[in-house]
Amino acid sequence: MIDVIVVGGGPAGMSVALNLLRAGRSVLILEKENFGGQIANSPRVENLPSIKEISGLDFAGNLFEQILDLGAKFELEEVQRVLKVDGIFEVTTNYHTYQARAVVLANGVKHRKMGLPNEEEFIGKGISFCAVCDGAFYKDKDVYLIGDANTALQYALMLAQTSSNVYVFTLFDRFFADQILVDRLRQKDNVHITHNMNLVAYLGQNELAGLRFENTMDHTIHEYPTNNVFVAIGQVSQNDLFKSLVETDDHGFIITNDKMETSLPGLFAIGDTRKKDVRQVASAVGDASVASVFIDKYLMINNRVG
Ligand SMILES: Cc1cc2nc3c(=O)[nH]c(=O)nc-3n(C[C@H](O)[C@H](O)[C@H](O)COP(=O)(O)OP(=O)(O)OC[C@H]3O[C@@H](n4cnc5c(N)ncnc54)[C@H](O)[C@@H]3O)c2cc1C
Repeated sequence: MIDVIVVGGGPAGMSVALNLLRAGRSVLILEKENFGGQIANSPRVENLPSIKEISGLDFAGNLFEQILDLGAKFELEEVQRVLKVDGIFEVTTNYHTYQARAVVLANGVKHRKMGLPNEEEFIGKGISFCAVCDGAFYKDKDVYLIGDANTALQYALMLAQTSSNVYVFTLFDRFFADQILVDRLRQKDNVHITHNMNLVAYLGQNELAGLRFENTMDHTIHEYPTNNVFVAIGQVSQNDLFKSLVETDDHGFIITNDKMETSLPGLFAIGDTRKKDVRQVASAVGDASVASVFIDKYLMINNRVG
């Protein structure tokens, strides 16, 4: 029996594993895609204490190596069900069912989509949600980008290095990003910013051929032919699986107390997946450090009772 199963191998999941392994607990991380989570998609991380600048992939890679050295078990499997039966957790993936004495949900968030017709069909055929993954396809080409916050600006800055022109569209009349990123973006000659534009349609038949916007001030319609757009408009929860197990807020984020305990004893939630105001690496890592203390205590008490 494993002490702790961690659902998700992002910064939160790997950090809680790091602390629990150091406390002598056995840990299995189940990750559906690849280690690193969202931060692996960040070209440049500059807000971590004592690390001036690092790529998200390097940050994730270093942490992954650190936990493997400590004996973490890591499986590329998607968690499809978590149950608690007679005080023991059963975690079912697309391949196996595992048992553990405690479970940590560190399953993060997923990209918010525009929700427009043709979106699902055009993903990978002109619509992308990840500039780090797909930016290289648009070297020396014009690219379009929708979004106004940190992720969008990081993407725009990255794309500006290789693409000919980056056309950035925001819904409101300003950015909602760190000022340092806004300043950097405004200095780029090949970045063209248009505010107050609402994307109302993806144009094209079998693949993206253009974008239709409505100006939110004068309601004029503007169409731009393009076969590539990056959509970076925030994230949404992915907790449908766990809604019958734990309490969530109206947006599906898991409610925890200050100890990162959910409404089900032995089930903890950390990082972006939980109801919180700030979703960043430092905050995810902070959650992990708090949770690991109380998971260890839960295991000790549970052991004595058992
Ligand atoms: C492009 C970009 C740039 C960013 N830049 C910065 C930055 O510079 N500084 C900063 O502080 N923050 C940044 N962030 C935010 C930061 O990446 C997140 O706050 C952080 O990654 C949250 O960590 P997490 O472990 O809680 O969740 P995530 O990173 O979302 O990791 C969750 C993991 O769980 C996995 N998972 C989900 N469901 C399942 C399942 N059912 N079974 C198994 N695995 C599952 C996912 O595949 C994922 O790997 C950025 C985010 C993006 C998208």
